[in-house]
Amino acid sequence: MATKSELLKRIRLNCIECMGGQSSYIEGCTSLKCQFFKFRFGKDPDPVSEKMKEAGLRLARMRKNNPIAMKLTQNSNDNTSLSPQGVSA
Ligand code: SF4
Repeated sequence: MATKSELLKRIRLNCIECMGGQSSYIEGCTSLKCQFFKFRFGKDPDPVSEKMKEAGLRLARMRKNNPIAMKLTQNSNDNTSLSPQGVSA
C-alpha cells in the first residue's frame, strides 16, 4: 500500500503530465471538479488532519507501552473508577 506522500507525488506527476509537462501551468488549472484538484500541488491540503492522525498514533503507542495510562484513558468516562473505595460518587 502506498503512503500518503507517495500518493501525493503520483498525483503531482499526473498533473504535470496533464498540463503537457509544464508544472508552472498547474497553478492555472481550472478543473475544480477534477478529483486531483485539491492535491495538484503535491501537498496535503488539510495538514491539520495529518497532525491529528499522528497525535492519535502517538497516543496509541503510549497506551500500548504504558498499561497504567491505557487503564486511565479507558476509565476517563467512568468517574467512579477513580474514586476512593467505599465512597460512592
Ligand atoms: S487537477 Fe488539473 S492539472 Fe491535475 S489532473 Fe486534474 S485537471 Fe489535470
